[in-house]
Amino acid sequence: MSMISVKGLRKNFGKHEVLKGIDIEIQPGEVVAIVGPSGCGKSTFLRCLNLLEKPSGGSILYHDVDLVSGAPKETNKVLLGMGMVFQQFNLFPHKTVLDNITLAPIKVQGTGKREAEERALKLLRTVGLEDKRDAYPNQLSGGQQQRIAIARSLALQPEVMLFDEPTSALDPEMVGEVLDVMKKLAADGMTMLVVTHEMGFAREAADRVIFIDGGVIVEDSEPKEFFAHPKNKRLQDFLSKML
Ligand code: ADP
Ligand code: MG
Repeated sequence: MSMISVKGLRKNFGKHEVLKGIDIEIQPGEVVAIVGPSGCGKSTFLRCLNLLEKPSGGSILYHDVDLVSGAPKETNKVLLGMGMVFQQFNLFPHKTVLDNITLAPIKVQGTGKREAEERALKLLRTVGLEDKRDAYPNQLSGGQQQRIAIARSLALQPEVMLFDEPTSALDPEMVGEVLDVMKKLAADGMTMLVVTHEMGFAREAADRVIFIDGGVIVEDSEPKEFFAHPKNKRLQDFLSKML
């Protein structure tokens, strides 16, 4: 059974129709890479999935709740299962790494301080930054800050992670360390939707790659097929410019 079932999802900003009917089923443990030209609606799609943007129509079924038509009381509850990582890391500048990671579990989930810290330290090991627990964000590189942002999101124990161009703001030499953390997460079975321009990551780590164009998904296939035999003409053009 699908974990997330999206049907006819639409989003417009005033008269501008950005999403014109997105249909996609996400299975538990699946890693889906989302690619497409700038401005095609990739971020809007992810933001509609967790209601950072209010969808204009269609349905998003998640844990038997339709996020589009459901009451806030219901949707807020199930949305705790989704974590998100953005291009900008947005760590709290005046808090240490450990406090950045434990803040939401303590305040939002009511987790005890001790348990929250134990979980945080485990996550710091996962992202390879155990020694930075007492550092402040401005003492870290961009790649390190993004790895902390991933740990912070994981601290809320989501079952699906949404990544919106998590490496686009990084200097090239730091992209790899963040992708490595994401690959590890994927290998551990996390369900992930990843908007990315990193075609290498899409090829290696994704189970499926989707291409959005004109407000709809025009290609949805396994990476091998997606890159070797793209069917959609716009995707062919897109790939020829990327590679
Ligand atoms: P992508 O992430 O694929 O680059 P976006 O989802 O950010 O694209 O944006 C898709 C389109 O929607 C763009 O034309 C953008 O200008 C528009 N858009 C996005 N967010 C807003 C908003 N809050 N208000 C008005 N227009 C928006
Ligand atoms: Mg975007």
